[in-house]
Amino acid sequence: MIQLKSAREIELMAQGGKILGATVEHLRAAVRPGISTGELDAIAEDFIRSHEGATPAFKGLYGFPGSICASVNNEIVHGIPSRKRLLVEGDLVSLDVGVGYKGYFTDSATTAPVGEINAEAKRLLAVTQESLEAGIAAAVVGNHVGDIGHAVETVVRAAGFTVVRDLVGHGIGVEFHEEPQVPNYGKPKRREKLVPGLTIAIEPMVNVGGPATRTLPDRWTIVTLDGSLSAHFEHTVAITEDGPRVLTRA
Ligand code: MG
Ligand code: MG
Repeated sequence: MIQLKSAREIELMAQGGKILGATVEHLRAAVRPGISTGELDAIAEDFIRSHEGATPAFKGLYGFPGSICASVNNEIVHGIPSRKRLLVEGDLVSLDVGVGYKGYFTDSATTAPVGEINAEAKRLLAVTQESLEAGIAAAVVGNHVGDIGHAVETVVRAAGFTVVRDLVGHGIGVEFHEEPQVPNYGKPKRREKLVPGLTIAIEPMVNVGGPATRTLPDRWTIVTLDGSLSAHFEHTVAITEDGPRVLTRA
């Protein structure tokens, strides 16, 4: 069931989303060679909890142990943060964070470069970010969920990369994962209609190589099957009469 949000509910989500946007910026600034993903997790949890009433939504969600997901290089999503996982110059680290605030959830992700990265990695970041912006731009009343995925995939294909199909964006708000599913592929005018009050997480996961995935033995971390580099950008967006409202920008 799709749970449409009132203007008041969207305002509460925007308050939590502002905290989340600041958290993601704070994390990006902390990324450097030598820091561990476990340290980034602690930084995120402290920063979120420093805001009265805000909680790290991932902690304990489906049993996940961290406050963030930290996925390095060929890891697409759901990497478990660890003090033993040190980032090195040239890595990409995808940081996925959720915040609970006043009864509502927001969700955002970014992929950050660790020191200097190579030209292909830079292009992957630029294209993935661009595909997210294209998806957001398609999140307008009258369009359908398929228009969002189509917009994302069009950008990714033109660049010669692939979108992950095994994982999708989602409705969000009262629950962390709500209906509808929001795939990063699709056809215009297909799937659910976009209506005011719909709140969704749009989150392209883009691979340099093929789209296929596999799950590591830790049962969380999802990696590219071919070992190629992957990036992930995400915002929580409200569909409004005035156009898409991004709730998780800093
Ligand atoms: Mg997320
Ligand atoms: Mg999400």
